[in-house]
Amino acid sequence: METSWSVSPCFGCIQSPCCHFLPVQKKSFNTKEDLEYALDILNHQYIELGLYDRGYWMIYYNSQCAYYDGASTKCRIHDQDLQPQVCKDYKALHCWYKKAFSSSESTTLIRFDRARLSWLMQACSYDDSGEMIDVPSWDLMLNTLSGIPLQRINPLLEQAPLLLGLKDFDQTKGLVFEYPVPQTQSQWALMNFRMNFHGVSLFQDKNRWLMHLHSPVVEELCQSLYGKVVTDFEDMSILNAEQFGLLYPYPGQAPYKFTRH
Ligand code: SF4
Ligand code: SF4
Repeated sequence: METSWSVSPCFGCIQSPCCHFLPVQKKSFNTKEDLEYALDILNHQYIELGLYDRGYWMIYYNSQCAYYDGASTKCRIHDQDLQPQVCKDYKALHCWYKKAFSSSESTTLIRFDRARLSWLMQACSYDDSGEMIDVPSWDLMLNTLSGIPLQRINPLLEQAPLLLGLKDFDQTKGLVFEYPVPQTQSQWALMNFRMNFHGVSLFQDKNRWLMHLHSPVVEELCQSLYGKVVTDFEDMSILNAEQFGLLYPYPGQAPYKFTRH
């Protein structure tokens, strides 16, 4: 007999990429230096880059939502108050994630690890100041990169070390990304969704929120650019997902205008 799950568009989506690939930050890479930065962060575990056919890049964190049940491949809080609004609003019938991440080659998103980005860097042309002046066509990228399979195989991140404060921050084990303090329901909902992923924690003060991702470097070959902002974390408190959930259990309970404290 058919059940509602068996007719769901998510039934049979074993990899459930929407619950495993967290969009972290949109980027525009226009110079050789930008691409070197991109190569640098790809040296961190769980980090992947996506190039959209519309021309922008997205940094993805390949972890797992804490509410994902690997045995059933279902969300444990589906349609409950606790489920982030972002997930409730997502139109699974027209799912973009499944096409982009589950098929071996998507035509709307090209996924990059270090090997693929290294090819792209040498295939671009730059002027004397390092600005990109020529890039391979979309079709050339698709064709060439189909011969460079993604190598990144991350161990499943079910438990990241608990950060207790600034003293635990180590730029060889993590990356930080800055966001505005949420002011709207949609910004709030997005942060609520992000915080459920294993490995995510949050440095916060009244002016900014910095999302910390547990992501150890693969090889000791670079200095993360983000590590350099560490000196002004001093007055920030840190929350892991559990503490975040205790303070702000549901988006509806969070103040619409976030109250500074
Ligand atoms: S929303 Fe898309 S990616 Fe997520 S489980 Fe459903 S079909 Fe898969
Ligand atoms: S809360 Fe959202 S991201 Fe997490 S398992 Fe459920 S649907 Fe997936």
